[in-house]
Amino acid sequence: MDLDRALQRLFGDDEPEHVGSGWLSGTLAVFLGTLGLGAVACLRWPQLLTSPEVRALLPLPLVRATIELVIGVAFLLGLLSTLLRRRKVLGATGMALALLAGGGGGGQVPLPGALPATPVYLGLDWFLLNILLLTLLFIPLEKLWPLHRRTVFRPGWTTDAVYFFVSHLLVQGSTLLTLMPATVFFRWAVTPAVQGTVRGLPAVLQFVACAVVADLTEYAVHRLFHRLRWLWPFHAVHHSSQAMDWLAGSRLHVVDVVLTRGLTFVPLFLLGFDTAPLYAYLVFVSLHAVFIHANVSWTFPRWVEALVVTPRFHHWHHAIEAEAIDKNFAVHFPWIDRLFGTYYGPPGQWPAGYGIAGNPVPEGFAAQLVYPVRPGR
Ligand SMILES: [Zn+2]
Ligand SMILES: [Zn+2]
Repeated sequence: MDLDRALQRLFGDDEPEHVGSGWLSGTLAVFLGTLGLGAVACLRWPQLLTSPEVRALLPLPLVRATIELVIGVAFLLGLLSTLLRRRKVLGATGMALALLAGGGGGGQVPLPGALPATPVYLGLDWFLLNILLLTLLFIPLEKLWPLHRRTVFRPGWTTDAVYFFVSHLLVQGSTLLTLMPATVFFRWAVTPAVQGTVRGLPAVLQFVACAVVADLTEYAVHRLFHRLRWLWPFHAVHHSSQAMDWLAGSRLHVVDVVLTRGLTFVPLFLLGFDTAPLYAYLVFVSLHAVFIHANVSWTFPRWVEALVVTPRFHHWHHAIEAEAIDKNFAVHFPWIDRLFGTYYGPPGQWPAGYGIAGNPVPEGFAAQLVYPVRPGR
């Protein structure tokens, strides 16, 4: 909780947080100012801080305009907060970050024409892009249809934010480790005839097949993480969240991520799906995985809940209730759990709480990283 305490000491006060108190404008100013400064750093040191795949995806003029807008709004909101709030540190920090980003060149930092490939890079651009899109999408959803009324800054949020940051920053390593088991150990099993048949299927069918095959593997790996005593502590980290929201799904131990993704990719690699349906599936996974953890009270018609995983289904997987333990392993299709007898979901009901009985996993990214291998755990 050290980061939590540091932020509380820096920004915390006993003033109210309602609209008009300068809290929201100040918090947004710090958030946007940080994003703006990060984006300017990406423009200044693109070889070190950005990934070639993300660079190729983003239209530069739009990126530049967005950076200018973010910096400008951060400054104005910071100013507004300093006018509204007795303690000025939130607003002043937002303004200072915006000024630093502007002074660093803003959205107009020139780029060299062609960037030579770098062997090692960080995905700061990947992080900025995702945090901006996901907060824009999920914070309003969770405010409009909350399952539990609470702020973004609930206990444990800094831990999850660090997971989100680190996993995006290290995108190069995690992609490499995802592809490795398939490409290194299973290249011998590639069958051109099978791959030809798969690629002959319409793209929509390939997308669905991709999701089904991936979820069958994920189901098996997920169940092993729950079943095997030596594997469970790595996955227990994911279950240690006592609050479910869009950010809570980020809490995944590196061993959990690498094993699950690496093994899930093996059948996808062998079946040789076309790039378009495979990439469409990757976009779907990344949004769906965030959605099923979200703090939204949505319930869907019975047939939808039987067909695809909804927040209610996955919230039961995280439930503290004894009858829900070791249930609902599927990530996309709940009927896989029905098929194997591990389905749980009393109609219309939500869990009373989340986490692991006795709360054995410590709080904080570093403590959770070593938790599974700590002697005398
Ligand atoms: Zn689990
Ligand atoms: Zn989960």
